[in-house]
Amino acid sequence: MASERGDRGGFNRAPREMTDVTCSECGKQTQVPFKPDGSRPVYCQECYQKHRPARSSSRY
Ligand SMILES: [Zn+2]
Repeated sequence: MASERGDRGGFNRAPREMTDVTCSECGKQTQVPFKPDGSRPVYCQECYQKHRPARSSSRY
């Protein structure tokens, strides 16, 4: 089964490293929690949601 992590506490410590990017769709400045390698477009949150497959799954 899935390995359990020992994450405890509700505080967001160790924030992710955000990278400033420009949305490939609308050109808006945004940040992404990963380092874009330039081989794929990056989107702001709004456009990202548009681009994700909207399946009728209740899972996130
Ligand atoms: Zn956008």
